[in-house]
Amino acid sequence: MKEQVFDEEAARSLVKELRVNFAAGKTRSYDWRVAQLKSMIKMMEDHEPEIVAALREDLSKPEMESSIYEIALLKNSCVLALKELKHWMMPDKVKTSITTFPSSAEIVSEPLGVVLVMSAWNYPFLLSLDPVVGAIAAGNAVVLKPSEVAPATSSLLLRLVGQCLDSSCIRVVEGAVPETSALLLQKWDKIFYTGNGRIGRIVMSAAAKHLTPVVLELGGKCPVIVDSGINLQVMARRIIMGKWGCNNGQACISPDYIITTMDYAPKLVDVLKHELEQFYGKSPLESKDISRIVNSNHFARLTNLLDDEKVSGKIIHGGERDKTNLKIAPTILLDVPRDSLIMNEEIFGPLLPILIVDKVEDSFNVINSSGSKPLAAYLFSNKKELKEQFVKTVSAGGLVVNDTTLHLAVHTLPFGGVGESGMGAYHGKFSFDAFSHKKAVLYRSFVGDAPLRYPPYTSKKLKL
Ligand code: NAD
Repeated sequence: MKEQVFDEEAARSLVKELRVNFAAGKTRSYDWRVAQLKSMIKMMEDHEPEIVAALREDLSKPEMESSIYEIALLKNSCVLALKELKHWMMPDKVKTSITTFPSSAEIVSEPLGVVLVMSAWNYPFLLSLDPVVGAIAAGNAVVLKPSEVAPATSSLLLRLVGQCLDSSCIRVVEGAVPETSALLLQKWDKIFYTGNGRIGRIVMSAAAKHLTPVVLELGGKCPVIVDSGINLQVMARRIIMGKWGCNNGQACISPDYIITTMDYAPKLVDVLKHELEQFYGKSPLESKDISRIVNSNHFARLTNLLDDEKVSGKIIHGGERDKTNLKIAPTILLDVPRDSLIMNEEIFGPLLPILIVDKVEDSFNVINSSGSKPLAAYLFSNKKELKEQFVKTVSAGGLVVNDTTLHLAVHTLPFGGVGESGMGAYHGKFSFDAFSHKKAVLYRSFVGDAPLRYPPYTSKKLKL
């Protein structure tokens, strides 16, 4: 039997079908939204082993990482939305001004319509469904396009979403560039894209043709500033968890590079090496607690960064590779030049360069002069003034002091980038807001009608 292709015609007819169902009002009701969110939770409970297996197949992701960072985080999003939905859906009463007296006003959150979610391969389950939670909570019909780079998870999402959620309003389309391009030709009411900035630009220009708003969740080089006089062991463990404990560095908010001073660097390196061995043993390539590199293209990209002659002799830990199994050991490079390849692209893998500055305060200038604002920036310090200066001077999607990556788990904080690291944000209520139109509504009555505003505009009226 001939396989059905998903081309422009198929994309058009899919959007048309969802528009009809959206217009019928199905997705708007509180009950529908709640039913979908509950079904998503049940889907995770009933199929957790399959989800873990798909993530293992795509990335050798350790079960613990899959359970916590992919499944539990998504479950938390659903649970929070279920708890808060009534409140989120309620109009916000706001003050009015003397100009409109007497009057009342409110902001009504209304669904945008039919939205597209495109996700990336590194957290292929969470990054696909977490925006979908926001889209459903806000009452939209939604098409999800998972990443073809994580094919096992993509096909599982197609099957599970088809089985467990309302397929008249929530659909998954699998595919790579041709299928995504067909989708991008359509008119959407919002596009929520997670991935790199190059494709982000393609998404944004496709959206511009229809004046479609976008959320772009992109990446960048996330710096970690390490000051002296801190608890070295805790610092090292938290950097290791943010780097190698997050999909072996293949995470948008993983530490990309460290900045510290020359006299502190040896202590920092010693403790990182020690803790790495505690976590992953003497042969980290064999550790079951660390993901592999997603595919041979990314493996070649990463080894190319290591083979750059500008960093030759700079590897002070790790560097081992296993091409057959797509594994690269946790690798630290000390005192890398700023014009090396590794310092000029997002690493997105297990390599951690250390930059040296004369004074720790110089780190702010290193970050701000890099030309792009990172998705996240981290500082380890006990000094009040340094923390204040960090918050004041470093522009990034999010900042964490004395830890890495954990801001992602705080649902009261918006998660998103700035400048090159993206636009718009989600998580918690921010997800609901990302997929809602905030409709301004002013209520007036027939009393208190001031004749002053009506013509004829006499000079007497002007003087009042
Ligand atoms: P990817 O290769 O999976 O691509 C992302 C999406 O773009 C996929 O759905 C893919 O099918 C689609 N795509 C690819 N080429 C396309 C084209 N020519 N036209 C239209 N669509 C196309 O993922 P990636 O870009 O390699 O992901 C890694 C990047 O994403 C990193 O920069 C990382 O920092 C960033 N990221 C950001 C976040 C965040 O939340 N801000 C999360 C994860 C990853």
